[in-house]
Amino acid sequence: MGRKVPEPRWKYKRVVVQPLRVFLCTFCFPCYPAPMNLTRARILIAGGETLAGAALAAEARRRGLAATTLSANETADWADAAAIEKSFRDIRPDLVLVAAGDSGGIALNRAHPARLMESNLRVALNALGAAARLRVPRLLYLASSCCYPRDAAQPLRIESLMTGPFEPTNTAYSAAKLAGLVQCEAIRQEHGLAYFAAIPSTLYGPEDHFDPERAHVASGLMVRMHEARQKKVPSVSVWGTGKPRRDFLFSRDFADACFFLAEKYEAPAGPINIGPNADLSIAEVAETVKQVVGYEGTLEFDASKPDGAPIKRLDASPLCAMGWRPKTDFAAGLREIYAAFCKIKR
Ligand code: GDP
Repeated sequence: MGRKVPEPRWKYKRVVVQPLRVFLCTFCFPCYPAPMNLTRARILIAGGETLAGAALAAEARRRGLAATTLSANETADWADAAAIEKSFRDIRPDLVLVAAGDSGGIALNRAHPARLMESNLRVALNALGAAARLRVPRLLYLASSCCYPRDAAQPLRIESLMTGPFEPTNTAYSAAKLAGLVQCEAIRQEHGLAYFAAIPSTLYGPEDHFDPERAHVASGLMVRMHEARQKKVPSVSVWGTGKPRRDFLFSRDFADACFFLAEKYEAPAGPINIGPNADLSIAEVAETVKQVVGYEGTLEFDASKPDGAPIKRLDASPLCAMGWRPKTDFAAGLREIYAAFCKIKR
């Protein structure tokens, strides 16, 4: 595999612009913003097949940005370090958005903790590693609200990270995502690159899996209620007690927040939460899905199934203070998902 000679623009950026920016940010003006003009940037989205990655790719298209996606199947699920580094070198990104790694709802986490941990550790090691070795100047790593301790004070603030044990239903996945978050901090400290992590709240969107064993709650319930309506089944089971609370963020709003941060966020400030600053109970979610699907049967809560964390609500006030707000109301987001689902089913 021959090493490409960097083009002048690339070399100029690496040799002159980036060190100057790092010097200014780190030593002269600790609050000097490291702005990025996205319209001129080459963007690499790692994880084109994930809910988060597909939403980022769609948002990049909407904004007319120059983005290339890399998926698990092109990188042997992020195991092939040489292929990953070659792809990064070919794309020569100015910005990497890391939304890669296997993930899913509570059922998948319980059935395949080892698979999820391995996949996400590979991303932390190989995607972040390739970017750092090639000195890509800016990288946003998408962590998870599972990185917070199960019993941390709500709303969840960055200071609560690493202060207690994870929620047991997803410990392996959480540990791997936390490794990625910490690696961003470590790369920034060791190499002076503007790498940072954002922690998104519970995502829902048309890009989610509709396979019930893999799906997150909104799409999982949607599939079951759709089938129950078609087969005229009188009741649908909702896992757990219905009491847990989650802060749902529509995938398009999430992607919008990521580009907002990629452009404006001053990386040395460390990780940041992305969320709507509002939460719903799973019972409320189930009722709204029922209305959207037009299911007329009853909902039965199955307390033999796990609830997972009792509440996950991120403190997104630092992001709000920067001027960002979500745009999509929960029911409107669900209607979009249902339209996408019905299209696939046809
Ligand atoms: P979590 O946020 O990591 O716990 O992941 P999920 O999105 O899978 O689950 C959120 C909550 O929804 C948990 O309390 C689940 O027990 C509950 N839930 C209720 N019905 C379903 C369902 O059909 N699928 C999923 N994935 N969760 C469900």
